[in-house]
Amino acid sequence: MKREEFLKQAEVLLRQRRNELRRRVGAGLSELSQGEGGIVRDQADAAAEDEFQLFLCSFADLGKNELAEIEQALEKIRQGTYGVCEACGKNIPIARLEAIPTATMCVHCQQAWEQKRARGWSADGEDDAA
Ligand SMILES: [Zn+2]
Repeated sequence: MKREEFLKQAEVLLRQRRNELRRRVGAGLSELSQGEGGIVRDQADAAAEDEFQLFLCSFADLGKNELAEIEQALEKIRQGTYGVCEACGKNIPIARLEAIPTATMCVHCQQAWEQKRARGWSADGEDDAA
């Protein structure tokens, strides 16, 4: 598949995923804000419900993170920088973008970055002293 064809396909997929996430994050949040109205409350279930609400919160956060990554990817498509490694500037292979459409680095740079992070270095080397 040509890169341009793939980019068009990726944009469609990312938009679909974004809409789906927006719906799900929105649904989770409205359920949270509804409180008692949305969920049947019962003394015995109160603890479980608290856990459920925590789960909903973290799910919404996860969704928001992914949503942010997708927005970023769509912005890159608009700017023509989608699929270019942020670290080394090379094209990220299509196979990798198919697997991880929001990837911003090639496998090599991603691994190097994750190793750095695992050793406790800050990603950009800033803010440690501040
Ligand atoms: Zn790279």
